[in-house]
Amino acid sequence: MIQVEHLTKRYGDFTAVQDLSFEIDQGHVYGFLGPNGAGKSTTMNIMTGCLSATEGRVLIDGHDIFEEPKQAKRLIGYLPEQPPLYLGESPVEYLTFVGRAKGLRGEELHGQVAQVMDQTGVEPVAHRRIADLSKGYRQRVGIAQALLGNPKVIILDEPTVGLDPIQILEIRDLIRELGRSHTVIFSSHILSEVQAICDRILIIAHGKLVAFDRPENLERQLLGENEIVLTTQAEPEEVEAVLARLETLTDISHQNKPGGYTQTRCKTSHPQPYELTRQLFWAFAESDIPLLELTLKKASLEDVFLELTEAKEPDEDEEEVDEG
Ligand code: ADP
Ligand code: MG
Repeated sequence: MIQVEHLTKRYGDFTAVQDLSFEIDQGHVYGFLGPNGAGKSTTMNIMTGCLSATEGRVLIDGHDIFEEPKQAKRLIGYLPEQPPLYLGESPVEYLTFVGRAKGLRGEELHGQVAQVMDQTGVEPVAHRRIADLSKGYRQRVGIAQALLGNPKVIILDEPTVGLDPIQILEIRDLIRELGRSHTVIFSSHILSEVQAICDRILIIAHGKLVAFDRPENLERQLLGENEIVLTTQAEPEEVEAVLARLETLTDISHQNKPGGYTQTRCKTSHPQPYELTRQLFWAFAESDIPLLELTLKKASLEDVFLELTEAKEPDEDEEEVDEG
């Protein structure tokens, strides 16, 4: 449905997006996850033809977004990070205006405006001024305009930012609902949100794609490892001998501590970590080695996300550059 090929965007000598390639298939909800400044909006703006790329190309159903913008843009509905809502107008007026700009006329225009208002729950406020609407309703109006023209793909840039917790849940439900009839791509810097809505996750950091998978695969792949830290009253070689009897331990390292203690760190992919810590406890007891401390650190998806997105380019300056 969408092919992003070797996309690079440079602002002056700052590279915001670097050699990004991925493919979006029809019928899924994609979460575009990354911390602020990762390059999410830049990528979405390029994918929707709102911003030029420095290198690379984007194909929407085979149409190059820069070479055949008309055919390509017809297939996408976009809610940018700062949607250009006209505050003095009512949702009906605004949506009618956007529909007309998308080429809709007459019965079809009015029918579609009514339909997207129904889909997004805007009807109760259809005739109020947008300026007087809550942020949640404004966001619904923004999503409604993206739906006009019945595009196959809906792209939403951080649709829940700035909403209160109830509005966030409502917008998440709406995105899930849209996912039944559309391919949806939405960005977020909140891992739990992406986990809750998507069936495909793209993680982007420093303008590069660092992961792209189903949530359950990412979890399995990323959460497979727990860290164990133990302190014993023994020499590293003695600890090593005990650990050698147990399976699934990797990345073992020791540190001598004053007073004849050894602190050992290792990783395990044991499916039942408590079973392993139990074995460790008895193994040291049977070897007459006092186990002074035993800690099992479970990796959370949050940790993994932070690790993936932070540790990438330590030498690159993460300063925010002002627009314009
Ligand atoms: P995200 O949406 O993931 O928060 P953006 O795509 O908005 O990230 O920005 C990526 C990086 O590019 C940031 O470091 C940002 O400061 C920089 N950037 C974005 N727009 C511009 C611009 N017009 N000029 C210069 N730098 C920009
Ligand atoms: Mg952004």
